[in-house]
Amino acid sequence: MKKPISLRWKILFYILSFSVVLFALLWLFQTVFLDRFYENIRQNQIQRVSSAISASINDEENLATILQEQAQNNEACIRLIYNSNQNILAGNPLSCKVQNLSQDEVNRYLTLAIENNGSYTEKTIDTVTYQTIFGPITRKNSEDYDLVQATLAWTIDITGTKLPALILVSGRMTPVNATISTLKIQLFYIGAILIIMALVLSSLMTSRIVKPLEKISASAMILAHGDYDVQFNGGGYREVKELSDTMNYASVKLKEVDQMRRDLIANVSHDLRTPLTMISGYGEMMRDLPEENNAENAQVIIDECRRLTALVNDLLDFSKLQAKQVALNQRPFNLTACIETTIQLYRKTLKKEKLAISFEHDGEVWALGDESRIQQVLNNFISNAIHYGASGGRIILRQKDEKENVRIEVQDFGEGIPADKLDSIWDRYYKVDKQHVRNESGSGIGLSIAKEILMLHQVDYGVYSQKQAGSTFYFVLKKARPEV
Ligand code: ADP
Repeated sequence: MKKPISLRWKILFYILSFSVVLFALLWLFQTVFLDRFYENIRQNQIQRVSSAISASINDEENLATILQEQAQNNEACIRLIYNSNQNILAGNPLSCKVQNLSQDEVNRYLTLAIENNGSYTEKTIDTVTYQTIFGPITRKNSEDYDLVQATLAWTIDITGTKLPALILVSGRMTPVNATISTLKIQLFYIGAILIIMALVLSSLMTSRIVKPLEKISASAMILAHGDYDVQFNGGGYREVKELSDTMNYASVKLKEVDQMRRDLIANVSHDLRTPLTMISGYGEMMRDLPEENNAENAQVIIDECRRLTALVNDLLDFSKLQAKQVALNQRPFNLTACIETTIQLYRKTLKKEKLAISFEHDGEVWALGDESRIQQVLNNFISNAIHYGASGGRIILRQKDEKENVRIEVQDFGEGIPADKLDSIWDRYYKVDKQHVRNESGSGIGLSIAKEILMLHQVDYGVYSQKQAGSTFYFVLKKARPEV
């Protein structure tokens, strides 16, 4: 695959391209199109003068003053012809095109104005006449020229007769060639400054964006090699800082996952080894000592095999739940009966542990959910209450009616869980007490399985706990109508 261009070069490329475009635009507008712009502006100016005169042509008193003002303000030269041959002039007569026109030329403009709907603009090239030994030679003067605007005012009434008046306005165009060559020199300097600025700007941006990114990338490489304590320091811009914060967070999380993986291997191998040792030990004993070959010892082997099966099943179940490969079979079920059945399963264990269990409820309630999965959650909560509760103490199960919902609580009076560990216990293989104690039914992922099941049901769940006072695990289900 082609290696992408580095950001450093891209930034330089973009800024340089921007400068080149800017320079080209400046060049085009300042040199190539300058005379065209100038001509357009001047033409509009002269047309505005004609319109202003046309508008105040009936103002006999002020007309002469208006003409003078317009001529002065717009560097224009004005000639108003009315009543066939009456003239009002304004503007400097020295360089005035319209004041020096012959009668034929005036007639020509009149005709052109009539032909062009009352308004006609012309660019008149000046001619220069040289005296030579062969006689006078007339040449076009390419530098200077005039713009002449001929406008007809139709509805005027200056003399009482309704004759049209002809407004002639001319404006001298000074050559822009000298200006253009000055601008060209200036543009040369501007171009040089633009290139220098592009280089400075791109190196500035590189140091503020690219350098921190390179630093982050180097730290990520260290992280990839398994050093989770690496620190990501991204100065510069907010986005870069956010990226380094995210990377720091990711490294903390990776460290946790790695720790969990180690715990898993340690816990699972511990949990596997104990029953396996028991099975092989009892097996050997029964093989070597005929008097030990009895039903009691065989039961130990069977119990340990069951424990192994339960552990492996839990692991498989959890991975399926996590991969969202489990479809819930949600329907109304008798929750109160389900709780009572679950409690029955623990009668023997409770007796052995000298624990008293009570179930507080106000009658039968039906709930919506996957009954076998909810029983799995109850199993976990109850077995944890037995395992972590105070021995010789009691366990209380509560079924609380909450209008549309029903809340189930499992309370024990054991050691409780420290407040800062309350969130972590729902994580895989997390143990408050790192000293691995063998839980009769626990695989270390019981609560993670319960969490996945309750999350699939999209219901509220949680735990309250106080150190030395015990814990209360709960979940809430939607009530349902009993099925007949
Ligand atoms: P296991 O019980 O097999 O270790 P769980 O996922 O069921 O796994 O529980 C995770 C951890 O949460 C336990 O190791 C324990 O530290 C803590 N815990 C769970 N239930 C209780 C409880 N009722 N009282 C105190 N701690 C508990």
